[in-house]
Amino acid sequence: MVNIKKQKKLIIANWKMNPDSLKEAISIFSGIKKTATKLRNVQTVVCPPYIFINELQKKVSGHRLVLGAQDVSMNNRGAFTGEISAIQLRGAKVGYVIVGHSERRGRGETSGDVATKIQVSLKEKLIPIVCVGESERDEHAEYLTFLRNEIEESLAHLSEKDISKIIIAYEPIWAVGVNANSADSPEDTEEAVLFIRKVLSEMFSKKTALSMNILYGGSINDKNSNFFLERAGVQGLLVGRASLKPKQFSSILNNANLI
Ligand code: PEP
Repeated sequence: MVNIKKQKKLIIANWKMNPDSLKEAISIFSGIKKTATKLRNVQTVVCPPYIFINELQKKVSGHRLVLGAQDVSMNNRGAFTGEISAIQLRGAKVGYVIVGHSERRGRGETSGDVATKIQVSLKEKLIPIVCVGESERDEHAEYLTFLRNEIEESLAHLSEKDISKIIIAYEPIWAVGVNANSADSPEDTEEAVLFIRKVLSEMFSKKTALSMNILYGGSINDKNSNFFLERAGVQGLLVGRASLKPKQFSSILNNANLI
């Protein structure tokens, strides 16, 4: 396993297009806040739908629990109906932004678009959480070629300095969301993470590749979260469905705090 210095675990909640109302959003956020603000060894980031960001921001206190966004426009301002810019997110005091989530890539977002979104985010000092992952895993390991292309194209044109500011989320698409059969295994995730570091070390320095934060995402719950944190060589988790259940998400946070 790669030797990474002990650091805070990064746990990202991706609420997707949930919940239906601000009242519910505040209730879920308050439930998470009770636990997250107590934990020294965990950085929690909640990514709600844009429409709840300003109200939830009023509930944020301290740095242990902060807000992120689920996407960002490639453009800064102008005629882009329905989009939200990195400048606007920065104005709303958002610290992180998910880019290239498989549900956005599935609607036509290319790795070239992801590369632009990373650039506009970094310019506004938002930390991009860049999602990569294959749609299926084949026995001939063709998926590694897919993964390599996605990483090389998404991270193209980044300087050594900029690459160290981003976070990579390895999310095998077949393990993500309601249609997933199960999570990946920590062992297979570890292999994929090593491969990602290898590709990064070919693009950037070995030192940078080894020090980057890589997360796992896909069907994480309070039963399997620690296996990934302990055995998969990742520095954190990207959590979808389970992040909408404050009790379950709090268990994930509490467990991560002890590792
Ligand atoms: C996600 O949306 O990034 C995700 C990992 O979802 P889930 O945890 O529900 O599989």
